[in-house]
Amino acid sequence: MKAPFRLTAFGVFFVPDPLTGAQRIFEMSNDWKPSTKAVHAGTRRSQYGEVSEAIFLTQGFVYDSAEHAEQRFISSGEDEFIYARYGNPTVKMFEERIAALEGAEDAFATASGMAAVSGALTSMLKAGDHVVSARALFGSCLYVLEDILGRFGVEVTFVDGTDLAQWQAAIRDDTKVIFFESISNPTLEVIDIEGVCKLAHAKGAKVLIDNVFATPVYSRAFAQGADVVIYSATKHIDGQGRTLGGVILGSKEIIRKTVEPYMKHTGGSMSPFTAWVMLKGLETMGLRVRAQAASAQAVAQAVEGHPVLNAVIYPGLAAHPQHALVQRQMGAGGTVLALDVKGGKEGAFKFLNALQIGIISNNLGDAKTILTHPATTTHQRLPDAKKASLGITQGLVRVSIGLEDSADLIADVLQALDGAK
Ligand SMILES: *Cc1c(COP(=O)(O)O)cnc(C)c1O
Repeated sequence: MKAPFRLTAFGVFFVPDPLTGAQRIFEMSNDWKPSTKAVHAGTRRSQYGEVSEAIFLTQGFVYDSAEHAEQRFISSGEDEFIYARYGNPTVKMFEERIAALEGAEDAFATASGMAAVSGALTSMLKAGDHVVSARALFGSCLYVLEDILGRFGVEVTFVDGTDLAQWQAAIRDDTKVIFFESISNPTLEVIDIEGVCKLAHAKGAKVLIDNVFATPVYSRAFAQGADVVIYSATKHIDGQGRTLGGVILGSKEIIRKTVEPYMKHTGGSMSPFTAWVMLKGLETMGLRVRAQAASAQAVAQAVEGHPVLNAVIYPGLAAHPQHALVQRQMGAGGTVLALDVKGGKEGAFKFLNALQIGIISNNLGDAKTILTHPATTTHQRLPDAKKASLGITQGLVRVSIGLEDSADLIADVLQALDGAK
């Protein structure tokens, strides 16, 4: 029996009109602006012509015959699937939409941001390889680079990511991969993507960027030289705190020949339900992230120089050491700032406990403003000396700005700072 189901990929073709017989052709154009791509790219419609993307909550796919099954395992076409760990129509829609937005040839969606970081690194490396990484990293990224890779015979050299001379000195002829967060979590150091890519490519190394804090909205990482970009989709792509996910973006060659074989056989693939949440997230991401970044800028300016603070760290402030770089690289300071509250842990806790709107949690990029004390939570496991070397002081509070009115947020932060005196 032939399956009546017909899946049509937007950008390739659309079902013929039954009255006129005319075939409506939709060609997704690369000239479309990001907000147009964010709502249309990658869409696949079933014979029902649903408006909102369908969730294909299925692990497997039925073959018409044994011969057909055999053929599909030899080679599957663009819209032919085998098993959801390998690929799924809803996941494919998400991969194509985020790839179109990022300006990447291809993408592989993963179960979390860390599945993307560890999957990209492990698929690209083997025993004996050398990696150079920025030192200022999210706690779990640091664990993968510092504790896991070494166990498999990969040597990792850490540098101060803001210093191009240190990158130049550390990158060797046998360096295979360069890794950094383009804006580091939580100290918001900005790394010169073009500068590091030039040094890396001169030695034949591939550059893998964790671009979470830049967000796909402000990223121009591929134009600036990146080979592979990863996102934790848990952050701004979902943007509403619902589900974990991630994505690895790059050339067709890297994604299909290096990343996909590793990911599909080791189990870190994204679920179709998650892909649907992320697809809907992409539709509103541009509006959300721009509003959050504008509020972050307003909050940073309102609290700069406050007597209860040792420092306000925000790349959008003229006082930030890489302010000119972030303007050139992204054109905005992002959605996260960090406050160094006087009085160490006690001062920081008093401030956090006095907040009325901002909530104490550890996600970021959410519609709700979320504040985190990295020294006792996300970076707790690091020894004190290590925290100090990364700039994670006892007074440091990370503030991920949400979609509340910025005047309310400013008032809330100011009253909570008064409470921290
Ligand atoms: C959150 C985060 C990750 C990990 O993402 P998960 O979705 O939580 O696995 C990786 N890198 C950075 C910079 C992050 O902020």
